Amino acid sequence: MRSLVLIGHGSHLNPESAAAVYAYADLLRSHGLFDEVVEGYWKEEPSLRQVLRTVRYTDVTVIPMFISEGYFTETVIPRELGLGHQGPVPPSGVARVIGGRTVRYTLPYGVHPRMSEVIVARAHEAYPDLNAEDTALIVLGHGTTRNENSNKIVYQNAERMRQSGKFAEVHAFFLDEEPKITGWQQHVKAKNIVLVPFFASEGWHTLETIPEDIGLTGEVTVFERLGTEGQTQTMYYSKPVGTHPAIAEVIVQLAEEAHGASDRGGDLERGHQDAWNAVWQRLSAGPLRIGEVLLRSMSGMVEIRHALDEGKANEGLKTVVTPEGVRDQVRLDEGGEYRPVHTLRNLARGWRAVLSEQDFPRALHFLYPAVVEESYAQHHHALRCTPWAATARRQTGIYAKVQKATPQQVETVASEICGGCLKTRLWADEPLHQTFFDGVPGGIPCAEACTLLVAEVREEVSGKRGQKSGPSH
Ligand code: SF4
Repeated sequence: MRSLVLIGHGSHLNPESAAAVYAYADLLRSHGLFDEVVEGYWKEEPSLRQVLRTVRYTDVTVIPMFISEGYFTETVIPRELGLGHQGPVPPSGVARVIGGRTVRYTLPYGVHPRMSEVIVARAHEAYPDLNAEDTALIVLGHGTTRNENSNKIVYQNAERMRQSGKFAEVHAFFLDEEPKITGWQQHVKAKNIVLVPFFASEGWHTLETIPEDIGLTGEVTVFERLGTEGQTQTMYYSKPVGTHPAIAEVIVQLAEEAHGASDRGGDLERGHQDAWNAVWQRLSAGPLRIGEVLLRSMSGMVEIRHALDEGKANEGLKTVVTPEGVRDQVRLDEGGEYRPVHTLRNLARGWRAVLSEQDFPRALHFLYPAVVEESYAQHHHALRCTPWAATARRQTGIYAKVQKATPQQVETVASEICGGCLKTRLWADEPLHQTFFDGVPGGIPCAEACTLLVAEVREEVSGKRGQKSGPSH
């Protein structure tokens, strides 16, 4: 039995940020190659600090859904997962036993050698007639002067493509560092050029900045050749590599190659199993309230609805029947605003989910990530909490600033953010004697400050709180 965990960046502001990770997780679930596929995020829930608690088995493979190695894959993710590793990840990955689970952490999918195949596939889609006589390939990376690893993979792929002999010329260009894509015509001689963005997803860069920077007019753009009159070069613009369906195969291969992966896999994780057994037991005794929802077991199915919709006729409610339906339903509040923290007291009303017993745990996980596991641990006095000082000390990069926050600044921000949240701040010494397992629906523990709070404290320390949000979100 094996669990696969896909790690994405996520966002406190953009509800679409996790879409690519969702899509791959859904695709991999449908392949059925893993007994469980779970997503975890830096800026969404379940957080990197929580996600391992939410997996069902003791054999866990964690894959960062990033296009290149860098700060997140080498520093942030290993630190937040508690891997006890910092710095470059070896090709065989990093294996650790954490809380009774064997966790294998791999390189990000973007550095797998099979990405070269994805580049060729994207190039063929954009220009089916490409040939080695008159077609140049440009592999375009983001590039940043902060981490040389982020451009290394672009150069590596360009070199592989050169050696493949499939193109007349192969070039690596970048948006944010030299050689910049804006100067491509000074380097590329071929008549036809395929431009493949080595980006993880379709977004601002692929849809706006890249086309604007080089003057693309669509999927095919004809340029006048530099220093000539009447001679042209035609550029074919492909979709980014990160959204190609073959990425799912790259992920599977990465997981198979993970250090020490065994065919046998692991067992059910005891604490996780106990927590969910306790939920089933409560449900068999009658309706169960957790946070803002009411759960009811009914002839082999489980219904979830807003507790304030209790007694409402089913016909008056929108019905969803899949965990993914629940996930999409609860991302926005009634006003259409994004809910980056799932336990904020603004769950929309007007819907019900009817789920099979098999689908129900995943749906509840999407609704209230890690709440079952953490509440059960709290119920048994086994939840370890992390005080604010320890959370602040752990922060690096732009978040290191929160170490300067005074207790009053933290409290000011927390009273506003946490004031709208169902959870009780154990990390700030608030007492929680009963949980929903004791019949107290709002009895949900917060073991440590979430990344939304950390980001807001950073804004407070910077004196920018309330202004237009910057990169910390
Ligand atoms: S830190 Fe505050 S807002 Fe974040 S999960 Fe905990 S209680 Fe809720």
